[in-house]
Amino acid sequence: MSILFYCPWHNQNQWFIEIKKKFKNEKIFTLQDKPHLSKIKFAIIWNLPNNILKEMKNVKVLFSLGAGVDHILNLSNYRSQPIIRLKDKVMAERMANHVLSQLLFYQLNLNTYLNAQQRKKWIEDIEPILNQDITIGILGLGFLGSFTSSQLKKLGYNVIGFKYSKPIKNYSFPVLYNKNNLKKFLHNSNVVVNMLPSTQETKHMINKFFLRAMKKKSLLINVGRGSTLNEKDLTIHLKKNKQFYVSLDVFEKEPLLKSNPLWKMSNVIITPHIASITAIDTAVEYMYSKYCEYLKNGRIKNDINLVKGY
Ligand code: NDP
Repeated sequence: MSILFYCPWHNQNQWFIEIKKKFKNEKIFTLQDKPHLSKIKFAIIWNLPNNILKEMKNVKVLFSLGAGVDHILNLSNYRSQPIIRLKDKVMAERMANHVLSQLLFYQLNLNTYLNAQQRKKWIEDIEPILNQDITIGILGLGFLGSFTSSQLKKLGYNVIGFKYSKPIKNYSFPVLYNKNNLKKFLHNSNVVVNMLPSTQETKHMINKFFLRAMKKKSLLINVGRGSTLNEKDLTIHLKKNKQFYVSLDVFEKEPLLKSNPLWKMSNVIITPHIASITAIDTAVEYMYSKYCEYLKNGRIKNDINLVKGY
């Protein structure tokens, strides 16, 4: 079976080697091989150009090299082919670790000590808040959000969740849904972790009204998608509220422009979309297992609800 691999990342060669090793009985092409695109049955992709998808008239399955699938759904030539996205334990662990690191940086006042170090100042201690006295609101309880919530709960934090639809399973913490309950969720959270996908509904969901509903002294961690946060509204909010902190891993435009004022703000931590980078070996293993499932059954269920957009 002909498989196309397309990935613009710096480690694309490493990916290619691992994929070829695992799918050893298949023909794996890159665009450099100039394959007959109409013969491609499977595509393993990230940020595939729209015109290439158009030429792949007989593609049966699209594998996303990450957990997000907006890079496929946003292509005008996408024709509802099944999408398999990564649901990898390693990514979940990485995400939970990243969130915890940002939470502890805030909770233990490490920003203040770092500033003091830069000024060679031995400052007085600041008593940190205990885990049991912090409520963390997890916005989006999908594959990554659920794992992060359970890890934080184990550490003794109070956790509340917010999701799109009515919960059908039992959670070990309160879970809200429905836009009417968003304010309640925000009022009750000392820290809000955004783990939402990019959809039409979530576009600029974090705007001035959302920010005003959060506690004045609080932390917002955005590890979902940049499109969910209105950066202009955030910048204004940060200027007005010096006790309000943000940790941003994803942005409206990536890489973040040098001219963006967020770079220089003292209550902002910036990381370059690294919260949960894809692990090559486990990801390839996962893709291969899904591929075998397809070969066995002759079809595969779309991981994505095309109506919801995630
Ligand atoms: P899932 O698709 O498994 O879960 C998405 C969650 O968001 C669901 O709980 C869903 O609710 C909820 N949701 C969607 N739309 C809304 C809405 N309008 N209002 C409230 N809740 C909503 O995604 P994952 O957990 O796997 O991943 C989440 C996102 O994390 C990815 O889409 C991607 O954008 C981002 N990501 C970031 C990375 C990074 O390095 N920064 C790496 C990997 C992913 P419901 O359960 O009710 O449907």
